[in-house]
Amino acid sequence: MDEHLAFIEEQVDRHHEWFSKSLPMIASENVISPLARERLLSDFGDRYAEGLPGERYYQGNVFVDEVERRVVTLAEKLFRCRLADVRPISGTVANLAVYYALLEPGDIMTSVALSHGAHISSAKFGAAGMRGVNNVNYPFDVDRMNLDVDGTARLIRQVRPKVAAFGQSVFLFPTPLKELRDAFQETGCRVWYDGAHVMGLIAGGQFQDPLREGADVITGSTHKTLPGPQHGILLSDSGDEKFVKRLMKGVFPGVVSNHHLHAMAALGVTLAEHLEFGRDYAAQVVRNAKALGQALHERGFKVLAEKHGFTESHALAMDVSALGGGAQVSLAFEKANIITNKNLLPWDTSSLRPSGVRVGTQELTRLGMREAQMQEVAGLMARVAIKKEDPPRVAKDVAGLRRDFNTVHYCFHPGVPAHARLRLFR
Ligand SMILES: *Cc1c(COP(=O)(O)O)cnc(C)c1O
Repeated sequence: MDEHLAFIEEQVDRHHEWFSKSLPMIASENVISPLARERLLSDFGDRYAEGLPGERYYQGNVFVDEVERRVVTLAEKLFRCRLADVRPISGTVANLAVYYALLEPGDIMTSVALSHGAHISSAKFGAAGMRGVNNVNYPFDVDRMNLDVDGTARLIRQVRPKVAAFGQSVFLFPTPLKELRDAFQETGCRVWYDGAHVMGLIAGGQFQDPLREGADVITGSTHKTLPGPQHGILLSDSGDEKFVKRLMKGVFPGVVSNHHLHAMAALGVTLAEHLEFGRDYAAQVVRNAKALGQALHERGFKVLAEKHGFTESHALAMDVSALGGGAQVSLAFEKANIITNKNLLPWDTSSLRPSGVRVGTQELTRLGMREAQMQEVAGLMARVAIKKEDPPRVAKDVAGLRRDFNTVHYCFHPGVPAHARLRLFR
């Protein structure tokens, strides 16, 4: 075989081998179901479709159209809404569609600050800046790791934004949308909820229900707590046809042409599986996160929002500045095959030296872990970061824990290895 092909195959195989004996705890990742993974390999990934089913610019979409109509129906059922646009190819692209549809250069948007957990796409040097949006950040209650409700309502009344944007990448507690509703109504702003991290929780009846709490539009990734393919989605329950049309035009022709049809088909599988298993999964994800928070705290970690139960989502944030800082600790975890990321915390001034580590329980939950395993996970993390044990030694016990948790749960073919080799040739 060609040397380059052999090299690439070997590296991917080694990655699979590594992840099959690791604890994948990055809060924005998940493992896709075997059926959804199959759809990713289909010929859909070789085709083009632009626009909407029945109104395409290319021929050859007869079955693509059938699938897309069904994926839309599934999404509207799962999220209980009148509009699901399944064409954004990622969460950031869904966000671009909203910028394009609802904001013009110079318009005021209010949003969460980066250091308070927001995503780069709402920053001045990210998509918001590219659109020329005048971005004003909400006040934040660090103790609760959530918006300061009174201050946020005051800010909205004061600056009267065109769009009030919410949602975070360190998303521990529900956004107080209901408490802010009067301010939204008085100022007539549009309410945009970026649910990238928590789509699977929302769909599973956990965390919060933004469309019923005042959000006009939700954008999200489909591969974080929603355990689907890497893709994006845009949702609205608005009855305002003009508004809905603007959003859809924001997606196409605004920011996508072809929308990655293999991922769109795989998303349909994920949505169907979530309708069946999503409630159990989402409830266990949150129980695991709370249990892990408590267990880490008991072993000496400084887990944020201790007085408020650490989290209501899949995610936890820890201050590890006294243990060497986020960069050093996440690297030591990696050497023990515990995969996390360093993260800015609200009081950090340098993004180069973040004092936090962020973790999530969604993927461990998909692998079948429950509260009892969260105790073990916390113990392994403490051996690395607090007792400063040699990471490769801890890695042996990480692999031991993973041995009993290596198949995908909450899907139609449970029991298939999460990191099975996919091999069509040889
Ligand atoms: C992850 C994330 C995104 C971007 O999602 P991609 O699918 O990676 O483009 C947007 N917003 C928030 C809050 C996120 O956490």
